[in-house]
Amino acid sequence: STVISCNGISHSYGNKLALNQVDFSVDVGEPIALVGPNGAGKTTLFSILCGYLKPTTGRVEIFGEQPNSPKLFGRVGALPQDALLDPRFSVLKQLLFFGQLQGMSKSNAVKEAERVLDLVGLVETANVKPQELSHGMRKRIAIAQALLGKPELILLDEPTAGLDPANARVIRKLIGELSSEATFMVSSHNLDELEKLCRTILYLEGGKLSQQQIGESSSNAGYLT
Ligand code: ADP
Ligand code: ADP
Repeated sequence: STVISCNGISHSYGNKLALNQVDFSVDVGEPIALVGPNGAGKTTLFSILCGYLKPTTGRVEIFGEQPNSPKLFGRVGALPQDALLDPRFSVLKQLLFFGQLQGMSKSNAVKEAERVLDLVGLVETANVKPQELSHGMRKRIAIAQALLGKPELILLDEPTAGLDPANARVIRKLIGELSSEATFMVSSHNLDELEKLCRTILYLEGGKLSQQQIGESSSNAGYLT
């Protein structure tokens, strides 16, 4: 079944065209990579999929709903490019806050926070404040937040940008492990990072999209569109 469908999405900031007639759809299943250089429009597309930004023209549906529909609440988890963690509160407190925002009871939110911290390998940071953590660890906490409540669609904008190889590996491994439970769409400016993880690659350049399938064992499959 269809998770994301984008038809003729364009977005302009003033007279800067950031997305130009983007069409694609994503079915339940393997992770999808969104690859493109800086300025290609990746964050703009993610912002539209998350419902933060309305496209200038075109139609987007997630599970058949508008991206900002309350019906999607809890079904979509997102890592914004500049995820903000509040420096005043421990990692556990922040995760509890977001869990309770999703309607979990306090005790369920605690269980869920512990589950997602375990997934990102950072259970020991529960009582630590974010500024005491490395950049890579904070990124993993932000990803843990996106996993709260087991969303069916998880949108990760540049989850490994600026990370050392070890932290980046943890994140890629996690996406691989969870890809049977949720549909991931992950962006990067580096194809090498995602090509082992994702068979479908959406290339974005100058706001224009093209799509490629990479075979399981070969990487010379042709462009589809
Ligand atoms: P990416 O995430 O691939 O680096 P973005 O979606 O951030 O790309 O940006 C796409 C284009 O839109 C770039 O040329 C960028 O400079 C421009 N842009 C992004 N956000 C804004 C904004 N708020 N105002 C004006 N231009 C913007
Ligand atoms: P990365 O973002 O790749 O994790 P950093 O340069 O932020 O790398 O951190 C390198 C190492 O230093 C990390 O393994 C982390 O454990 C440690 N570190 C970073 N910031 C702090 C801090 N404020 N207090 C204690 N250890 C830290």
